Amino acid sequence: MTGIEIYKYLPKTNCKKCGFPTCLAFAMKVAQKQAEISLCPELSPESRQFLEEASRPPIKLVSIGRDKKIETGNETVLFRHEKTFYHQPGLVIRIKDTESPGDAARRIREVSSYSVQRVGLDLTLDGFALDNESGNPASFLRLVETAVNNTDMPLVLMSPDTATMKLALDKTAQNRPLIYSATRDNWQDMAQLALDYHCPLAVSERESPGNLAELTERVIQMGVEDIITDPGADSFGNSVDLLTQLRRLAINKRCRPLGYPSITFPGDHASGPEDEALLAAQQIAKYAGIIVLDHFYPGIVYPLLTLRLNIYTDPQKPVKVAAGIYPINDPGNSDPLLVTTDFSLTYFSVAGEIQSCGFPSWLLICDTGGLSVLTAWAAGKFNAREIAKTAKQFGVNDYVNHNALVIPGYVAVIKGALEEEMAGWKILVGPREAMDIGNYLKRTWRENVL
Ligand code: SF4
Repeated sequence: MTGIEIYKYLPKTNCKKCGFPTCLAFAMKVAQKQAEISLCPELSPESRQFLEEASRPPIKLVSIGRDKKIETGNETVLFRHEKTFYHQPGLVIRIKDTESPGDAARRIREVSSYSVQRVGLDLTLDGFALDNESGNPASFLRLVETAVNNTDMPLVLMSPDTATMKLALDKTAQNRPLIYSATRDNWQDMAQLALDYHCPLAVSERESPGNLAELTERVIQMGVEDIITDPGADSFGNSVDLLTQLRRLAINKRCRPLGYPSITFPGDHASGPEDEALLAAQQIAKYAGIIVLDHFYPGIVYPLLTLRLNIYTDPQKPVKVAAGIYPINDPGNSDPLLVTTDFSLTYFSVAGEIQSCGFPSWLLICDTGGLSVLTAWAAGKFNAREIAKTAKQFGVNDYVNHNALVIPGYVAVIKGALEEEMAGWKILVGPREAMDIGNYLKRTWRENVL
């Protein structure tokens, strides 16, 4: 709704109780999703109900797990460049109850402890889908117990049998697992379990989006609120087609029964781990909410986590590190001093290269608002004046005794101006690419300064 449309439902008394000077100002903020409708205490119950329903995100936020959570949904746009994507899809590993308990426990521990660092963030997987493939309740319960004893990550419980599901929920409901799934054969019983145990429910109907909407509507009418849809996205063409249809229907047509995140199983028809990973990558981009992987290989999982990070990083908020002076490899006061910008990718590329070459150095970081070197220079945020100001602000003279500063090769043009700004300092032009820093420090630094 636009601000003007929202304004029509407000009391128009300008009483300021919402914290805004006028009802119109409040309406504009609500339209921009910067204020909640609940802040106005003067609304009539009818207006409140109407506005709350109208301002609900077209795709509901659904949370799985208790302490560690997968939060998925709450998306408002079809394309990331329109605004941003808010909740990255959960990547979970499927464990089947046909595996031996020892193998299952080992895999669960291995996945739970998997973590890689990128741009200062710890990237991890998000949980497990426990599959009652054997159809045997005892095997499934053994697997559930193994999972509970070896991980605190969120769980998806997969069994078509409601009696088996109930037994599994008795052991896990306090951690709010996802119940997979309500089908046209068992939806009433599964929905009742979701209500009794306060757990989210997956609704599986793979014939068509229309049938899926019908089944979801029935589950909603029983009172289930947290729903994940399973439309059967199982091949490259079918997946992009189905998931895009659901996203369009939810966002453009406000189709409430389809306004939920979706679960996918890219390994179901894959010819191998690589094929599965390719489909998972497509589903990260368009538009899965939870992706269940059958294979866990760090070499495959790492690119998926990186892709997900890139797509779900808000393009309007660059990831950056704090300005300051950073010691790398335990430097002393005769060791090199380099300068670069606070864009995370820039910082971690430069710091990583210095670290791996083993040369002790100081790295001065300028506040450029999270811009890379050339962009910051073009924007006037990484010029001679700003670098000199940062050097003074962080007292570089307290750290080095040689009065030499290495600037990135891409801004060689500011060398003269920086020598004027930092009188008595020798400005050295370093390499353009971070990967050449090691060689530069080992060869050129000594020649120029020592
Ligand atoms: S609290 Fe409600 S009535 Fe008062 S100014 Fe805000 S929007 Fe208007």
